[in-house]
Amino acid sequence: MPDPLYPPSSLRLTVDRGALAANWRALDALSGAAKAGAAVKADAYGLGVDVCVPVLRDAGCETFFVAHWSEVAEVIAHVPAHQVAVLHGVLSEADCAYARAVGALPVINSLQQAELWQTTGGGTCHLMVDTGINRLGIAVSEANDARISALEVDILMSHLASADERTAMNRMQAELLEEAAQTIAHKRLSLANSAGIALGESYACDITRPGLALYGGVPRAELADHIRPVVRIEAAILQTRDISPGEGVGYNATFIANTHMRTGTVSIGYADGFLRQRGQGNALIHEGRALPILGKVSMDMVVVDLAEAPDLRAGDWLTVPWDINDAAQQNGLSAYEMLTVIGGRLRRG
Ligand SMILES: *Cc1c(COP(=O)(O)O)cnc(C)c1O
Repeated sequence: MPDPLYPPSSLRLTVDRGALAANWRALDALSGAAKAGAAVKADAYGLGVDVCVPVLRDAGCETFFVAHWSEVAEVIAHVPAHQVAVLHGVLSEADCAYARAVGALPVINSLQQAELWQTTGGGTCHLMVDTGINRLGIAVSEANDARISALEVDILMSHLASADERTAMNRMQAELLEEAAQTIAHKRLSLANSAGIALGESYACDITRPGLALYGGVPRAELADHIRPVVRIEAAILQTRDISPGEGVGYNATFIANTHMRTGTVSIGYADGFLRQRGQGNALIHEGRALPILGKVSMDMVVVDLAEAPDLRAGDWLTVPWDINDAAQQNGLSAYEMLTVIGGRLRRG
């Protein structure tokens, strides 16, 4: 029996593939002599590994960073496994066995991880050195440890804590990585994330690791002219209603009509990443017309005022403003959160 036809969704996320490819190429060019990789963790920051990884691969990207081993399978459906680096490293023998079975490489983060990787068979890996963010990585003072010299390190990397700021810490971290690089044998050196690329070529080393900027985020003003928006989100009107003065809209009737109104109930809610702080005071858009949101955002729905667009009917599509840089400021979220909150239902649309 053939699967029944998947009916059209009332919610859609469109990834502008051309913009994504252009952003990778721009970041690769800004990386100077270094080559850009791509952070594709968290389902390519919410936009979908299956959509984004083939685009990045075809643009020329050859190194892909994820956080968890559970993220590897989806990525290696599109690229050779040795091009995938797992940032959390190996916590157990099972992680090591999985790494070797599929061929993705761990980023070793501690002396314990180094020992575990060696005692389970060793082989090429990457290595994180902590130079001040104090999350993951060996200390620079551990660079001489025998467990580290035993490793076969491809990418020796560190991560900037405040690359989006003008601070002396950036230079200090670069110097510490340089110091570690003199002791630890490695093939390639890596420091810069998206914002780090904007700090200039002295931060680019051999390979950069942009994430946010690939997907349209602008963490530093220097990148603004190089980065194009990638995400477009639209939701359909499910039903229109006419309501009378005194009637409320949504949970707790936080909006009460003081006149006759035409409203539209729209198929997007906080389960899709349209968080509740984006309710009253914000608007959805139809061909340039702003349709104010009435009342609270529900899990699967939001209600808009159709006064500016009385012609709209069930099935008509509205654009959900998702300018990750502006919206982020409005809602007290970071551009990273604007992307990663995008819900699973929306991605499939
Ligand atoms: C997420 C991550 C990146 C990408 O950072 P962006 O700020 O999104 O460009 C790079 N390196 C590491 C270690 C990361 O965890």
